[in-house]
Amino acid sequence: MLRVWFRLTIAGVDISGHKTKGKVNHASAEAERLVSAGRAEDDDAFELKLRPTRLAEFIGQEKAKEQLAIALEAAKSRGEALDHVLLFGPPGLGKTTLATIIANELGVGFQQTSGPALQIQGDLTAILTNLRERQVLFLDEIHRLQHVLEEKLYTALEDYKLDIMIGTGPSARTHVMEIKPFTFVGATTRPGMLSSPLRGRFGILLRLEFYTDDELRFVVERSAEVLGVPIDRDGAAEIAMRSRGTPRIANRLLRRVRDYAQVRANGVIDRPTAEAALAMLEVDAHGFDELDRRLLRTIIEKYDGGPVGLNTLAAALAEEQDALEEVYEPFLIQIGFLDRTPRGRVATRLAYEHLGIEMPRKMGLF
Ligand code: ADP
Repeated sequence: MLRVWFRLTIAGVDISGHKTKGKVNHASAEAERLVSAGRAEDDDAFELKLRPTRLAEFIGQEKAKEQLAIALEAAKSRGEALDHVLLFGPPGLGKTTLATIIANELGVGFQQTSGPALQIQGDLTAILTNLRERQVLFLDEIHRLQHVLEEKLYTALEDYKLDIMIGTGPSARTHVMEIKPFTFVGATTRPGMLSSPLRGRFGILLRLEFYTDDELRFVVERSAEVLGVPIDRDGAAEIAMRSRGTPRIANRLLRRVRDYAQVRANGVIDRPTAEAALAMLEVDAHGFDELDRRLLRTIIEKYDGGPVGLNTLAAALAEEQDALEEVYEPFLIQIGFLDRTPRGRVATRLAYEHLGIEMPRKMGLF
């Protein structure tokens, strides 16, 4: 038992369902960035408080929600474990939140770990053999799971069986262990990096999209209510507009605007207060900060608008490639400021206009 406990601890599993430390921290500048969709150090307690716990409270993502609601209903009425679920999409859109909601809706236990937190076979074996009937096992950043562990997972997902080696050397033998039927929920920002055998083991695939301004306004209003912060519709809309389609950023901006409203205004967040606070925080009308502007400016000024390769761009910005690709670029691409072409990244006309730089004629092609 002691051994199992030790294993669980080193696997980074938090049985209480809190976020684990396994999350890979991208470049430190990224972690400090106010409008980053990635999780910052002080987000955890705050996010836990604002996290919706039931499907009905989860705003937006109508397609994913409907698909999930049907699957939940069917699994409940059959009294079976829900099919395994893969959640994918950019950071901060609600993958972890949905995983906890799945467990709540099914009324089963929830356990969480992440790809990088699982280092050795024993980590995974300990978790799988301790599963309770029909519970949810959530594995964040599944694309970072080691290949040997991924292979071990296959039989567990398919037949609820686990091959374990007993002994070493010539006397070693394999023992097949039964594990309890469970629901595996994997989350990834990079679905393209999953092997097809792994992807094939998920029965339910849910893609999360960036939120509309209206949906984010609801997120801000709901969070303000939970926190007891007075806010009007325009104040919430202003924060929503600058949140890059991402609830995590909306909540973080709300927190900073609330401080400003308390200290510099009468505590109420209206449009002028939100505008003044966000201007002070240097978050512009698109939710861009210094780093986004630097990224676009680098492509335009150093590389004639592109195309420029990802690694060259990462080196020029002194940022990590993964962080650029997973966190910074998706939103810039979504709103049409950046193009990903086979030859590299290209700044679009909108980017030139936003930065007030005239677009050279030859660039008209892009
Ligand atoms: P991910 O796992 O995709 O990085 P999370 O599930 O951790 O994202 O979500 C980040 C925060 O955003 C959560 O704490 C939650 O408060 C908020 N959030 C995410 N999606 C929603 C939603 N649909 N409705 C309300 N709040 C949300």
